[in-house]
Amino acid sequence: MSYEKSVELYNEACDLIVGGVNSPSRSFKGVGGGTPVFMKEGRGAHLFDEDNNRYIDYLGAYGPIITGHGHPHIAEAINEAARTGTLLGTPTKWENVFSKKLKDAVPSLEKVRFVNSGTEAVMTTIRVARAYTGKHKIIKFEGCYHGHSDLVLVAAGSGPSTLGSPDSAGVTPNIAAEVITVPFNDIDSFREAIDRWGDETAAVLIEPIVGNFGLVEPEPGYLEEIKKLTHESDSLLIFDEVITAFRFTYGAAQNMLQVEPDMTAMGKIIGGGLPIGAYGGRVDVMEQVAPLGPAYQAGTMSGNPASMRAGIACLEVLEKDGVYDTLDRLGERLETGLLEQAEKYSIPVTINRLKGMFTIYFTDETVKDYKGAERSNSERFSIFFKEMLDRGVHLAPSKYEAWFLTTEHSNEDIEDTLEASDQAFAALSSY
Ligand code: PMP
Repeated sequence: MSYEKSVELYNEACDLIVGGVNSPSRSFKGVGGGTPVFMKEGRGAHLFDEDNNRYIDYLGAYGPIITGHGHPHIAEAINEAARTGTLLGTPTKWENVFSKKLKDAVPSLEKVRFVNSGTEAVMTTIRVARAYTGKHKIIKFEGCYHGHSDLVLVAAGSGPSTLGSPDSAGVTPNIAAEVITVPFNDIDSFREAIDRWGDETAAVLIEPIVGNFGLVEPEPGYLEEIKKLTHESDSLLIFDEVITAFRFTYGAAQNMLQVEPDMTAMGKIIGGGLPIGAYGGRVDVMEQVAPLGPAYQAGTMSGNPASMRAGIACLEVLEKDGVYDTLDRLGERLETGLLEQAEKYSIPVTINRLKGMFTIYFTDETVKDYKGAERSNSERFSIFFKEMLDRGVHLAPSKYEAWFLTTEHSNEDIEDTLEASDQAFAALSSY
């Protein structure tokens, strides 16, 4: 496979754009470096690069593109918005239509607000929780990513009783000291943290099903206990469903898990491929937000007709019968095939999968927390990634990401992927 044009464009981009990319995860740093592929076009489940190579796409743009690229129903909605005004600066009926659709699917969203990214959505839930509780600290979970706002770019302290330290230059120690980080799926550590800090904690922020150190589900009863202890300390429970909302079912992970938070942050899929975020929850909590309440949050682009109409159209596709069963069936076929091949070539792997989303970890140990995901062999992942890319399968360039299936992946795509992975495993076994 030749990447000549991508190399040229990347060299030019490095002179113009910091690091050559507009989001660090797009660089190939996570797979030991190299030139990210510059795509010209996406169609259905496929990407086409500037050198005219074709890829089966499992990146899914890091999650939003669950209905494939250029879906006609969504394209029509966006075209209509382009013709009639993408941004009017006034309320429009589309905001009502979309809020109602979201609330029908996720009943805990008694009131919502649209913003423009997952980062904004999560950041604001924290502000609102602080306004509501009058407390300042937050407890979050090791390895979960919640966007790039200051408060959530905080690394774990050395134990549940210690405060965090900045995980990025520019985040002040004072801000980091407001954050406690505990391991996921470890209720004792959480209990210890809430015993020590509960009186000062405004919110507990968690991905109910983790998508940021691969895919990791909560152990049975874990979220129920988190909710109970959170409420006992008069703190609010926030679910970050930026990845999980409409991923596994027509609704959010909270519907499947039957645990309702006080507030939820969403993004990705609900924008139908356009920029979006949304947060919402209990009426009494949400009424803290301006203009009703003292917690300020605003946005020139928020609720714009283009994102609203794309999001509505995307949900219209997803609410059709059988969508999530199809994603599950394709995911199962891929999982089974990959596991068989790993065994054939004696490469230890673990796959965590739920419906059309899964992660392949290069370890034979069960992965249920961040430390487990860290054990996935980075070198093996990097080789596998590059072998797959060279055979026309585009994965996310990091061992901590997931594969995302779309409604447009066909049986043939899955079989072609397995043909490529057979060769990738064979190559791995000869290293
Ligand atoms: N929360 C989670 C769980 C995410 O995975 C992400 C992005 N990957 C965010 C928040 C931030 O969303 P955005 O990139 O749209 O700001």
